[in-house]
Amino acid sequence: MTHQKQYGASNSAPSEEFTWLSNPLDWRPIDRLILLASLVMIAPLLFGGTLLTTMLFAADYLVPGTACLLLGLYAVHAIVLSAYLFLALQRRHQVSDWPALENVIIISFVINVLASSYATGTHFTEGLLLIFLGINITSALANIRKIHRAYVFVCIAMAIFAVIDFTGALTSAPLFAKPPLKPDGSLVVGWLVVQVTLAAILLAISHISMAAISRWVERENLYREMSTIDGLTRLTNRRSFIERGHSEFSRARRISAGGVACVMVDLDHFKRINDTWGHHAGDQVLVAASAILMESARQYDEVGRYGGEEFAILLPGVSLETAAAVAERIREKIATTEVEVDGNSISMSASFGVACYPAPGIEDLNDLLKAADKALYVAKESGRNRVVMAEQADPDTDWTEK
Ligand code: GH3
Ligand code: MG
Ligand code: MG
Repeated sequence: MTHQKQYGASNSAPSEEFTWLSNPLDWRPIDRLILLASLVMIAPLLFGGTLLTTMLFAADYLVPGTACLLLGLYAVHAIVLSAYLFLALQRRHQVSDWPALENVIIISFVINVLASSYATGTHFTEGLLLIFLGINITSALANIRKIHRAYVFVCIAMAIFAVIDFTGALTSAPLFAKPPLKPDGSLVVGWLVVQVTLAAILLAISHISMAAISRWVERENLYREMSTIDGLTRLTNRRSFIERGHSEFSRARRISAGGVACVMVDLDHFKRINDTWGHHAGDQVLVAASAILMESARQYDEVGRYGGEEFAILLPGVSLETAAAVAERIREKIATTEVEVDGNSISMSASFGVACYPAPGIEDLNDLLKAADKALYVAKESGRNRVVMAEQADPDTDWTEK
């Protein structure tokens, strides 16, 4: 049913206590940056290791000058990041954020990926992929605006590399002296190691990205639930009910055959229930009444908690008489239900006001709600525990104009 919302949100609050095994999104900014720096460190260490191994065992595949330059860059990157990581581990006890560390991580990562991509000639394949997945993870761990700027910069740089490659102004893939192929045309084993390493890095990064994205979805669902659902009764809240009311009203206006009915419900002498049995018992009665309203509504009806012990039901495409019949069924069910709270049986009753559109004097949702409310008032005045239709509530109205 549309009126009973059960979003898949978990209600788990962010953990207060820090542990390195919890979701990084629950950590303080500086701890997230420490994780990010450690992940970014994998790049120079692994690429540097692979490059060094190739220089030692298959030097003839590489251009020595470029290889040394790249190795030097990886070394500088690793040293700078280690120094900042060391300082961050000291500072994390005093401060909760360190934007300078964020800048160093992003800038050094961008330089590293661009230099490696250009030197190996893979700037539109692995290079772009690494940056792309890097975006997901870094957006979760660092400032999203800085990541966006870095992304734009990298995309422009990659496009420039491509143009340079085509014009032949600079050597493409300057790291390689020859393609990583054996004389029979098959790839050298080291190439497989590079590919497997890249796949392992991408897998780790996508795993953390997924953890971050699922957390976002969870929070989004929780936010949506909190802003549209009443916490006690699980019914649509007043704001959300009125929003739905407006859209149903416009629909009823557009479709000539369609109308919309509204039933206002108010529990009788509810204050007495609170005074006699306590506020907690009053809450249980509200929950029980809400459950009856929900059970009695159709899939397309909307049941909302309109105020404290006041509810409203919207019935699209239903006439005044049908809505009154629905209200009568609900009234009877409520009046014959006993709510068991702490061993006590509490009985309840409710009064109902019914109105519908189209009807004379009802131009918008506000008029419809007012007419139903007026009928509810008459139901209260004439003895409670009854259903009153807008027609009966206002004998002066000339309904023959319909
Ligand atoms: P009537 O038949 O005329 O409607 O009388 P009533 O006592 O139901 O109406 P009144 O407006 O005098 O009292 C409504 C009471 O509902 C007062 C308020 O404390 C109580 N109430 C409102 N919201 C809640 C709630 O969430 N839980 C509980 N337990 N009580 C609530
Ligand atoms: Mg009441
Ligand atoms: Mg009331």
